[in-house]
Amino acid sequence: MRELFSTVLELRVHEPSISFLPVGSVMSETAPERLHRLLFLGAQRMRGRPIGRYLRQLQAWERLAPEAFQRLCAERMVRTLEYASSRVPLYGSGQWREAFQRADVRDLQSWPVLERETIQAHTAELIAQPTPRGHYFRRTSGSSGTPLGVAMDADAASWAWATDYRGLLWHGIHVGARCLRLIHKREGRVAEWIRNLHPLLTDDLSPPRLDAAVRYMQAARPAYVSGYVTAVTELARYARVAAPDAPRPLVPFVKVLGEVLHPFQRQEIEQGLGARVIETYGCNETGTVGYECPAGSLHVFAEHVEVEILRDGQPVGLGEIGDIVLTCTTNRVMPLVRYRVGDRGRLSADPCSCGRPHPVIAGIEGRTGDLLLTAAGVPVHGALLGDILKQITATSSPAALTRVVFEQHDSRTWTVLVQPGPDYSDSIGGLLIDGVKKIYGKECQVTVTVVPEIPREPSGKLRYYRRAAGAAPQSPSVEQPL
Ligand SMILES: [Zn+2]
Repeated sequence: MRELFSTVLELRVHEPSISFLPVGSVMSETAPERLHRLLFLGAQRMRGRPIGRYLRQLQAWERLAPEAFQRLCAERMVRTLEYASSRVPLYGSGQWREAFQRADVRDLQSWPVLERETIQAHTAELIAQPTPRGHYFRRTSGSSGTPLGVAMDADAASWAWATDYRGLLWHGIHVGARCLRLIHKREGRVAEWIRNLHPLLTDDLSPPRLDAAVRYMQAARPAYVSGYVTAVTELARYARVAAPDAPRPLVPFVKVLGEVLHPFQRQEIEQGLGARVIETYGCNETGTVGYECPAGSLHVFAEHVEVEILRDGQPVGLGEIGDIVLTCTTNRVMPLVRYRVGDRGRLSADPCSCGRPHPVIAGIEGRTGDLLLTAAGVPVHGALLGDILKQITATSSPAALTRVVFEQHDSRTWTVLVQPGPDYSDSIGGLLIDGVKKIYGKECQVTVTVVPEIPREPSGKLRYYRRAAGAAPQSPSVEQPL
């Protein structure tokens, strides 16, 4: 089990199974891309959002030597902490006031950890006083709990946009490059045209919609596809079956977001679309936190957000797993300091071969609530179930399964919901049952239930494993079998 779990984590970032465009090949900007870039950045500038200027600033910073880059990030952090402690009412009260009687506010590790529930309960007290003008609330979907509102302004939004575009530029994808975007809600026709986005709505990923998307990729040759991991995986699976002979790549790059990318999903996207997958990590509260570089490492956007890994409230060593805690240094309306985002992960001890000075995330495990119990009562991460799907994908028809959700009722009782594909058979159901028993114990009672459709969550995400409603929660502080 230990080896299997390590493999799942290690394979995430370094698993090229097909040949890609040469690493580092930078496509020159086309005339239409230039038009869309100028329109988009110009329109944003008129709204008081200097995205282009921040983008150039980020590109200049990333050319710094590692020591100079670390110094820069440390200085930005100190300015953020001084600002937050003097301007944010919550940080002058309760456990914060107590902590700063003993320690220096400029020392990040002296700050109490900020929990999601605290943000929900004290949103107004987290807004800086006096409040920067023109602020607004960005609401999160609440897919991991109750909805959360984070206040931002044009400046914070500009940094968030600029960091994200900078990650695309690492792969030679320009601002204004044509994009097939899998999205659950449209931005509006004009905004989409300016940004050169072609939407594919994820509320209905039925064959006619997916077929139209495949035809769009063949005809319009977008520079990249962007969308939630599970939605893009479904598109790739469809393309593999519906257009097996179409030349690959159907699209050069796929940027995935919003969900943990598991090895089987990376493999399916590579096989189905022939695309280079770009993994990202982030949250609505801070924006994009990390981006995969051309050498395959998931780098932290450290000028924008600091990542700490904590266990029992204390930082762990590089390479060790723990709770991911984020401090955003670009939001002056609602500065979140040491925000425990609810994911677990670890930082790498090794720098990336690409030479970028940004720290490297060695693995993201996803939500701390994703632990499921074996029949013997041992907590094991649900991501292991992805290995079953990976094996079925590799050895069976890609049209066997459309969607699968593994649902645990108690430590010995499981239901596997299956939305079958045209090539589904009982033997596939047998493989699913065997797979669950192999990981969670042969005593498990596993029932496969074939359903006509497995709906997505309102956000457009689709979890492929979960505890059934009413099942007892596991303690998130239990050690992983690593
Ligand atoms: Zn790198």
